[in-house]
Amino acid sequence: GEHLLDVRDLRVEFGTRDGVAHVVNGVSFHVDPGETLAILGESGSGKSVTAQAVMGILDTPPAVVRSGQVLFGGEDLLTVSADRRRQVRGQEIAMVFQDALSALNPVFPVGWQISEALRSRRGINKADARRRAIELMDMVQIPAAAERVDDYPHQFSGGMRQRVMIAMALAMRPKVLIADEPTTALDVTVQAQIMDLLATLRAELEMALILITHDLGVVADVADRITVMYAGRVVEHADVHTLYAQPAHPYTRGLLASVPRLDHRGHGLHSISGTPPNPAAIPDGCAFHPRCPWAQQVCRMTAPTLVRIGRLDRASACHFPPEALDARLA
Ligand code: SF4
Ligand code: MG
Repeated sequence: GEHLLDVRDLRVEFGTRDGVAHVVNGVSFHVDPGETLAILGESGSGKSVTAQAVMGILDTPPAVVRSGQVLFGGEDLLTVSADRRRQVRGQEIAMVFQDALSALNPVFPVGWQISEALRSRRGINKADARRRAIELMDMVQIPAAAERVDDYPHQFSGGMRQRVMIAMALAMRPKVLIADEPTTALDVTVQAQIMDLLATLRAELEMALILITHDLGVVADVADRITVMYAGRVVEHADVHTLYAQPAHPYTRGLLASVPRLDHRGHGLHSISGTPPNPAAIPDGCAFHPRCPWAQQVCRMTAPTLVRIGRLDRASACHFPPEALDARLA
């Protein structure tokens, strides 16, 4: 069937001093209304660049979309006119970034910034724009919105500023919200509150939500499905329960092992040794082989493809099926 957003075989390259960097190397995923997809990977895995390509904010060289499709309601955003692209961006697909403080303008009241898109695109008057800003601030659960609408960004806490950013992204009632590390700059309690808010809004507004994160612990409670990226490729995707209960790919297993359970969350990926490869020098064969405890000779020679495991919509890019890995100690 047709999905709301269907990204197919996306490839993005950068020119670097070391040569061409294949930052996104054949990535596919899809998301439907009312559903949350998490895209998980370490810094440099290509997940943010993927989101930027979907948003159409990669236009400046040296980043080039080499091939693929970004189908939104069946329309390929990679081939539509620049005008149509601008229309979709913000109105249909909106994005929230990690750093709310630098994304907000310090010299304008938050309400003014929240309603900016409504004033410029819909041409509504100041009084209506202010009223809509208050509604949006209520919607993202900023207390006393009517009293705070004229306050400036520095008068808000980090968590409240992130709520302002979410309100701004929702002003045009997008069908897809992409949140790139929306809680990374926040402390653990506030992270959970923002995740709860995003999950609530996703349900209330029947949006598709894409959460981009390096932290599996943060998305566990809110994601329906998870796509794991490594070195510009999808290495595993599955529904969240399967991924947690039976991770297939060695990289996912490493990520899972490094999620501190219960009280200490957020130690990241330290249980996987080594670092992700330079995208201009991705290892031959399986890109993960230098860090993989299961690596064999074949892994150094041949790149594995994404292969379906058992039931529909679960796949892993490893030469060895999960049972074969289980049978061998890492
Ligand atoms: Fe590890 Fe080999 Fe599987 Fe890559 S293909 S994840 S190196 S076992
Ligand atoms: Mg990033």
